[in-house]
Amino acid sequence: MSAIDPADLTLCAGPNDVSAEVRAALGSPILYHYDPAFLARFTAAERAIGAIYRTTRHEIILMQGEAVLGLEAAARALAGPGVPCLNLVSGVFGKGFGYWLSAIGAELHEIEVPYDEAIDPAVVDAYLDAHPEIRVVSMVHSETPSGTINPIREIGPIARRHGAVTIVDCVSSLGGIELDAEGWELDLLVAGPQKCIGGPPGMSLVAVSPEAWAAIEANPHAPTGSFLSLLDWKRQWHGQGRFPFTPSVSDLHGVLAAAEALLAEGLPAAHERHRRVAAACRAGVTAMGLRPWPARATIAADCVTAIRVPDPITDIALRDRVRSTYSVQLSAGQGAGNIIRIGHMGATARPMLMIAALAAVGRSLIDLGADVDLGSGIEAAMASLAEPAG
Ligand SMILES: *Cc1c(COP(=O)(O)O)cnc(C)c1O
Repeated sequence: MSAIDPADLTLCAGPNDVSAEVRAALGSPILYHYDPAFLARFTAAERAIGAIYRTTRHEIILMQGEAVLGLEAAARALAGPGVPCLNLVSGVFGKGFGYWLSAIGAELHEIEVPYDEAIDPAVVDAYLDAHPEIRVVSMVHSETPSGTINPIREIGPIARRHGAVTIVDCVSSLGGIELDAEGWELDLLVAGPQKCIGGPPGMSLVAVSPEAWAAIEANPHAPTGSFLSLLDWKRQWHGQGRFPFTPSVSDLHGVLAAAEALLAEGLPAAHERHRRVAAACRAGVTAMGLRPWPARATIAADCVTAIRVPDPITDIALRDRVRSTYSVQLSAGQGAGNIIRIGHMGATARPMLMIAALAAVGRSLIDLGADVDLGSGIEAAMASLAEPAG
């Protein structure tokens, strides 16, 4: 096999391979976007994504572009020159969101913690008490580059109580980790299909609360007549049944198939599947003599396990060894640190796929000269899987 053949296993922080059903849906006929059959599928996808967000209160906007489109659209819809925004930073994606807010000219406030840590809701509460002018609070649910999770369940009601609207990057958590947009009082949420939902990359799955719409309508800087506009989707598609531009027909078919499969499995079952694989992966990592990147197991995300790469080995060298020798494609650190990441999200949140990744990481580290107890690691992960459902 040449070096550019696909890996036998892609177990990344997304995108990953999808189920046979989703692949088949992606290959289904391309329809005209106003064909009644396509319109029915588009609205079915909106309903399914709303159910995955666990909301009937939010309006669902399906944007045609990778989730970064939805995130930038959210920033531009709610921020503007001089608008006081509090950005919560515990990793690469949180930091990047602040760059957008600054570029837009927002008055940027940030609470930043080390990238192996999580945001403390009490600190957010105190900050908002001291800065009642803040209109927007932005946060990341699952910080994929660090494999950590933030307590958005607590932060949502705190922001609401202070009269601020929240923006939530839940790109890598939605579908795999518990999230209740309505119950947790979150306002503008952005997810991607290519992580825990088990779909293709290429769309932004956005949920907008009535509070967020009111703030967007009141923001003179919210774009209209733009690819980045949420208002265009609200007014033209939801208001008049006209798409602002042609949707990505194939991607929509894939997203609908993935979302319907997830709902058929059931959200609690899907969350438990991700939790169980993540817990076993962490147990294996630790028993091998390696250290998970998150400071505590309680802030480790269930969709991806980030592992500290022992010096002097680098994340890139380790990832390349895993790929070239054992045909498993993993993710490197993406700027959060010297980290290798095993994705267990969507269709890849499966016990034996995780075991393969763990074995490839452990043996590659040995190949590169590290002191790793591969056997104990695999045994500990298997023992964790053998535990009764928790
Ligand atoms: C994957 C992901 C995105 C989308 O970013 P890409 O680098 O384009 O995949 C945004 N936020 C988070 C938290 C993600 O995991």
